[in-house]
Amino acid sequence: MKLLTFIKTSFKEFPVLFISNFFLFVFVGLAEMLAIFSVVPLIDVFLHPNLENISTITSKFTNVFAFLRIPVTQISFMTVFLIMMVAIAVLLISLNYLVIQTKYIVVKHLISKTCKACFTANWQFFTGSNSGVILNTLTREVHVVGEAFSGFSVLLSNIIRLIFYTAIPFYISWKTTLIAGGLGLFFVAPLFCLGRLNYKLGKICTSTANKFTEIIQESFLAAKVILGFGNSLRSVRECVRTYDEHRKAVVKSQLIVFATSKVLEPCGWVAILIAIYVSLKYFSVELAEVATIIYAMVKIIPLVKEIASQNNSLHGFIPSYEQIYDTINTATRHNQKSGNIIFKRLDKDITLQNINFSYPNREPVLRDINLKINKGSMVALTGKSGAGKSTLVDLLMGFYQPTNGVASVDGIPLSQYDVYSFRQRIGYVPQNIVLFNTSIRNNLMWSSDTVTQKDIEEACKIANAHDFIMELPEGYDAVVGDRGVRLSTGQQQRLCLARAVVRKPELLILDEATSNLDNESEAFIQKAISDLVHKITIVVIAHRLSTIVQADWIYVLKEGVITEEGTYSELIDRKGLFNHMVNIQSFSN
Ligand code: ADP
Repeated sequence: MKLLTFIKTSFKEFPVLFISNFFLFVFVGLAEMLAIFSVVPLIDVFLHPNLENISTITSKFTNVFAFLRIPVTQISFMTVFLIMMVAIAVLLISLNYLVIQTKYIVVKHLISKTCKACFTANWQFFTGSNSGVILNTLTREVHVVGEAFSGFSVLLSNIIRLIFYTAIPFYISWKTTLIAGGLGLFFVAPLFCLGRLNYKLGKICTSTANKFTEIIQESFLAAKVILGFGNSLRSVRECVRTYDEHRKAVVKSQLIVFATSKVLEPCGWVAILIAIYVSLKYFSVELAEVATIIYAMVKIIPLVKEIASQNNSLHGFIPSYEQIYDTINTATRHNQKSGNIIFKRLDKDITLQNINFSYPNREPVLRDINLKINKGSMVALTGKSGAGKSTLVDLLMGFYQPTNGVASVDGIPLSQYDVYSFRQRIGYVPQNIVLFNTSIRNNLMWSSDTVTQKDIEEACKIANAHDFIMELPEGYDAVVGDRGVRLSTGQQQRLCLARAVVRKPELLILDEATSNLDNESEAFIQKAISDLVHKITIVVIAHRLSTIVQADWIYVLKEGVITEEGTYSELIDRKGLFNHMVNIQSFSN
């Protein structure tokens, strides 16, 4: 992306910020120009106290003073100069405030836009993305762009101030200014070309920051495995090594920005000194005016320095902007499709008819699936690992669309329902435990906006969680730790069940809710499920077959196909795969 495209896109997104910044910058530029002009009479009145042989600029000031009935004295000129300085200081503070505001408004806007795009995307977006990259986009890259945006505002202000500042020496002696400007351009031009190099370095900075965030995130999520394998030092080395790559790119990029400004300084002075020497020797410029030209040039040199380095640093920011928009565009391409029928309750049944499904570029995972879940029944899905059970549940929840066939709810295709309203009526207990690092109460209240303390306690009693919660010193206010690490797996699983139950769902989906539990915890969950049977419609994926003894109907999947179905006892009598699985489990128990 070119700098100009970045500027155009940004202008379209933040017109008010752009325009308000622009006008304040112009205003500050004008005030500063006036302040420079007011130096001429100040010097003149000290050199010529009786106001003879004064420069044209000073005589213009004296005319204005006379018109305003202000006495033309050294004190008046000093007062005007000081007032101008104070006014500029106030304006500069306001400008700085606006620049900082601009940065954080842009950051907030980008965070909100990226989060919205991500969380309205479908599940495929999340399975296909690198969470380290998304995390880095939302933490580092948005700030880099915010910085660029305020950097751009400063660049704009500097260009405007440069125009005003150059107008003064130009007005006083256009020849001197042209010589200084020409020489200055000659020195500056090659430095502007460093922008391309900084763009490349910006790309490296972004990709190394992605990698670093990914490694840090992964390391902290896998802390137990890392400690358990005794590989802590290896992880530290990996984190430091990845950061080191980032450090090298950032240092080079910042050096270019800094060096640009430093190299320009002596060049600028050479240009000015030559121009002033020529002016004094060959053009008849007043001493007071030469002093003003020098004063203006003293202001111009840092400006040109800043413009050149800001131009280079802006090129370095563009890769971050590109990454943010790549993330937003990918998420938008995966936008969750949704119908417009609001789902309120399940009246009859959920059916899957002739369903086939394949993940992108993979062999079919589900083939010719026909399945029915009657309201109030408990339906179980079982089969070996990898048979396609979780994928089937994902289709039921609208996470994926079937390649062929239809999933219907009360005879209406699921795709015609507002998918969010449907999911809000589902109680979902995922295979991997997901709890938030907050209190037990907050974890449950997160499930629904309308739950009361009574609902929470009831749900915890159903999920056999109430007793262990009451034994905790802080009870329902106990904080569960990252992903629930301060609780045992069985307790975490029961909380997940309570969170699903507390919203009084129309459909309860339990994906391997007992797979990692000891016998006692399993018995707790099983008792909870027994209490819910025929009160709520339940779909349960179970590896442990004891969990599904009471299921009304069991589907056995093998390599993506339903090979057997029936009640528990029917399937045992059939002496097929299910019976074989039950025998193996009884034997191992
Ligand atoms: P089960 O729940 O019965 O263990 P899954 O539904 O999780 O089985 O997986 C069925 C098959 O689909 C497996 O071969 C698995 O590798 C594949 N699979 C699961 N998720 C994905 C995915 N996001 N992308 C590609 N393949 C997947």
